[in-house]
Amino acid sequence: MKNRNVLSYAANNALASGVRRMFELAKKYSDTINLTLGEPGFATPDYIVDAAVCGLKAGKTKYTPNAGIKELRDAISYKLLKENGIKCDPDKNLIVTAGATQALMLAMVTLVNPGDEVIIQGPNWPDYKGQIDMVNGKVVYAKVDESNEFKMTADVIEPLITDKTKLIIINSPSNPTGGVLDFEDLKKIAELVKKYKLFIISDEPYERLVYDGFEQKSLASIEGLDDYVLTINSFSKTFAMTGFRVGYICANETIISNLTKLHENMIASIPEPMQMAAVKAVYEGDADVRHMVEYYDRNRRTIVEGLNGIKGFSCLMPKGAFYVFPNITAFGMTSDEAAEYILERTHVVTAPGSAFGPDGEGFIRICYASKYEDILEALHRMKEAFGTK
Ligand code: PLP
Repeated sequence: MKNRNVLSYAANNALASGVRRMFELAKKYSDTINLTLGEPGFATPDYIVDAAVCGLKAGKTKYTPNAGIKELRDAISYKLLKENGIKCDPDKNLIVTAGATQALMLAMVTLVNPGDEVIIQGPNWPDYKGQIDMVNGKVVYAKVDESNEFKMTADVIEPLITDKTKLIIINSPSNPTGGVLDFEDLKKIAELVKKYKLFIISDEPYERLVYDGFEQKSLASIEGLDDYVLTINSFSKTFAMTGFRVGYICANETIISNLTKLHENMIASIPEPMQMAAVKAVYEGDADVRHMVEYYDRNRRTIVEGLNGIKGFSCLMPKGAFYVFPNITAFGMTSDEAAEYILERTHVVTAPGSAFGPDGEGFIRICYASKYEDILEALHRMKEAFGTK
C-alpha cells in the first residue's frame, strides 16, 4: 500500500527562519543585545491599549463582519485619502486582516495559481517566499544592488516578466534593506503593470518610517491602476502594535469581494477589541508616530556612522524602515559565519543576509528600533572586538 502518511510539499519545503536560528544560538549568553527581530522597541501607546481593554470589557468578544468593523474601515478610508491620496469606499474597497502577513497570504491565495510566477525583491522579507511556496507559485527574484541604493526599479523587473508572470510585489520602504522607491520609480512600475496587465501588491507597512525629508508615495495614488494594484498595510510597525495583528488590503471591488470570501475560510474575522484599538491609532496616534520616527532616526544615523568606522563593515544610509543592511564581505566569511562570529565576539545578535534569500549573501541585517543605549553599547562592543578603520 502506498504510504500517504507524508506531509505536504509546502510543509516539507518550508525553510526554518535564519533569524530564529540566531535567537537559539544567542541563548548561550546572558548579556546579549538583540538587534534581530523587526519589531518596535516602544510599548504600544496607552490610549490604544485602553481601547482594546474597553472593547473586551464591553463584551466585544464575538465574530465581526468578515471585512472588519465599519468604524475601522471608515478610519482606514479616511487615512488612505488623507495620507496616501488613495480614494476608497469603505464598504467596497477594504478588508481588515490579521496584520500584513495574513493580508499577503490571502492575496496570494486569491491571485496565484500553481505554476504562476511571482516577482519579489531579492533580498526579500522571507515570508513572501514561504507564502508563494504555499500556493505552489514560483518565486522570481529581482536582485537589487547596493550601487542603486537597493531599489527594485522597473528596469530590474521588466527583463524578468514572462508569460507565466502573474504578480509583482513591491515593498517600499523595504525589509531588509531600508531602500525606498520614489514617485518617479513608482510611475515607471505603474507603466509596466499596465503594459503587461499584471497584478501588483504594494506592501507598505513601513511607509511612515521615513527620514531625511523623504515622503513615501503609494503606488495606488497613480491614476489608472484600479484593475491591478492591491495596497497592503498594517498597524504593527507604525504604532508599535505588532501583537495586535491588525492590517488591511485596499483594492477594487471585485478583488475585495473575492478576498472576503476566502478570508471567511481562512480566519473569518479579526478580534473586535483589536480593531477598536486600530481605530484609536488612526485618529489619535499621529504625535506618537512622529516621536517614534524621530527616535529611530537618531538610532539610524548613529548606527550607520558607527558601523562605517568599524573594520569589516560598509553601510549605506537607508531612507526608510528601521533596518540597516551593511555589507560584511570584508570579514571574508559567509553571512551566516559573520553573524555567528559577531555574536561570539560581542554578544550582539544580528540576522545573516542569507535569511533574506540568496541575494542577501554578503550582508547582515540589523534592526535599530531598540533603545538608543543598546545601539551605543552594540557599537562599542563591535569597535572593541574588530577595531576601527
Ligand atoms: N511585510 C513586510 C515587508 C514585513 O517586514 C512584515 C513584518 O516584518 C510584514 C509585512 C508583516 O507585518 P504584520 O503581519 O505584523 O503586519
